[in-house]
Amino acid sequence: MQSTLVSFPDGALTGEGEVLLVDQSAAIVVVDATPFHPVDHTWPDQPGDSGAIAVGDVQVRVTEAVMAAVSDEGALAVGSDIPVKRGGEGWTWMVGHRTEGAIPADIAVGARVTLTVDADRRDSLSRGHTACHLASLALDAALADLWRKEIGSDPLGNPDFEGKANQSSRIHPDGSVDEYRLGKSLRKAGFDSEGLAASLAERQQRINELLADWIAAAGDSRIDVEGPSIIDRRTWRCTLPEGEVGFLCGGTHVRSLGEFASISVSLDLSDPQLLVMTTTAVAA
Ligand SMILES: [Zn+2]
Repeated sequence: MQSTLVSFPDGALTGEGEVLLVDQSAAIVVVDATPFHPVDHTWPDQPGDSGAIAVGDVQVRVTEAVMAAVSDEGALAVGSDIPVKRGGEGWTWMVGHRTEGAIPADIAVGARVTLTVDADRRDSLSRGHTACHLASLALDAALADLWRKEIGSDPLGNPDFEGKANQSSRIHPDGSVDEYRLGKSLRKAGFDSEGLAASLAERQQRINELLADWIAAAGDSRIDVEGPSIIDRRTWRCTLPEGEVGFLCGGTHVRSLGEFASISVSLDLSDPQLLVMTTTAVAA
């Protein structure tokens, strides 16, 4: 067994490979190489790709690609049942293709298969993920003057509100929902939550202006990899008018900000302890 080789960072939607593992009870097929992006089991922000695996005319639907890991003792664990973080020692890390219904006999260990990702869904998830990152950078910029103490900075040099307060991020086709905890610890770190509440509408407008400027500049967006397997570190990089930004990211992204007609956010503070940012992308 080896870690799965992945081609989704280059934008691949199809591929070929050899089946390494079939588990009927878990409804999981593992192939040595795949274009499918799997949902991460510890930070499940972007859903896994869907699509199909085929041998000749025989095919099985893949409902979602997930992380799978085999321990040195030979035990298979899938998705949230994996007891350690991605890349942990003592495990071999793989992309598991979760199938719909029984896995046909032709799709057996050793078989050569073709893999096809649902392109429209991937594209919309890539737009959702890039939009999510851009919105978080614009949020940091729009809240920068609310910090009364020095904290670490984000890739644009603004106080890293995202890094300090983000507690969950959920990406869906053409958008995302991010939740930020505005509790006592953020106040202690120097953040003016009352100031935010008093100026929420202006902050939202500032974010949307920044996003419009960034899209209009139509900069490049890409994923850099440190190696070919699912456990190699990946970094999203994007060119903005302010310069190139980048951070570690396991997901998929657009190739150019010209792929967007618009990205906009709405901020909700109906629970004063929880800022919810909903991001909506529209394809060009
Ligand atoms: Zn990301």
